Amino acid sequence: MTHAIAPRSGILDIAPYIGGASHADGVAEIVKLSSNENPWGPPASAVAALERAARTLNRYPSTDHLALRTALGEVHDLDPGRIVCGAGSDEIIALLCQAYSGPGTEVLHTRHGFSMYKISALAAGATPVDVPETDRRVDVDALLGAMGKATRLVFVTNPGNPTGTMLTPDELVRLADGLPADALLVLDGAYAEYADDGYDGGAALVTERENVVMTRTFSKAYGLGGLRVGWAYAAPDVIDVLNRVRGPFNLGDLQLAAAEAALHDRDFVTRTVSETKRLRGWLAEALAALGIPSDPSSANYVLARLADQAEAEACEAHLRAEGLLVRKVAGYGLPECLRITIGDEAACRRVADNIARFRGQGV
Ligand SMILES: *Cc1c(COP(=O)(O)O)cnc(C)c1O
Repeated sequence: MTHAIAPRSGILDIAPYIGGASHADGVAEIVKLSSNENPWGPPASAVAALERAARTLNRYPSTDHLALRTALGEVHDLDPGRIVCGAGSDEIIALLCQAYSGPGTEVLHTRHGFSMYKISALAAGATPVDVPETDRRVDVDALLGAMGKATRLVFVTNPGNPTGTMLTPDELVRLADGLPADALLVLDGAYAEYADDGYDGGAALVTERENVVMTRTFSKAYGLGGLRVGWAYAAPDVIDVLNRVRGPFNLGDLQLAAAEAALHDRDFVTRTVSETKRLRGWLAEALAALGIPSDPSSANYVLARLADQAEAEACEAHLRAEGLLVRKVAGYGLPECLRITIGDEAACRRVADNIARFRGQGV
């Protein structure tokens, strides 16, 4: 069939995003460890706020998100005037590409980086550039070498997904220092809460410089992936640009109210992060004891390295048959690996026991 109307070039090059599996054939009870969701969420405080906000659904929502931005400013010690909120950080990524890239320009992302960077670059008509990583770590020199006159955006996930590895503060400064005049460095801090104490997601770098943007989300540590709320912190000019291209009602009042409540629920986030770190260490050690290495993770998952792609696929299928859904990451250039989200303690123990059995080392 021929189409009379063709979309802009690049659109049909987009490979649709594939989310983590949420069911397994023939298995009634599943444990989903394939999308880095919070196993203890959503916070009850957020659900209660959402129910209260439902009573005024006849009204259009806030267009400036002032209450949520003010709360974000308080919690993160940032100027609310330099914050913009979106329908997940996915929307912020798309808005950045729409506003700053386009035909004839390049958007850099790294080999094992989040697939939304490439999708949003293509949707904007820009050329995505896939920059190699070294040993599952973002390679600053490779990124600097790939930057040129056409570069408009450089996306770096820190901590990395699916790798869990991090750049050092010095490496982030080196990247920002090397940016071409017309380019923005976007630090995607979706997992910043799970990094070592003191990591600010890149906020201090954004405060100092006009060409760095930090994106954050309520989808992971705050346990609200289904709600779709993310935000960015950037220079006033960048915030102004994003506010011009975003829809005035891009977030509904239910989203705004629930996110604000979750933000104030410090206990929930603190407990989530401390339990995740404890279980992340436990699972990495249990895998190591089975001869399965993983890089030290700064996120809410462990990237298990099996012998090869065949073993990774067999292991994923074995776990799936037991109702344990983990993520194959061949699409991210890591065919021999499986990304395992840190679930609750029972889930972590089941994963370790079943991988031991798969390896013939079970009791
Ligand atoms: C999960 C994730 C996000 C969050 O996306 P939302 O749209 O906010 O749910 C952003 N970046 C990366 C790398 C992620 O893994």
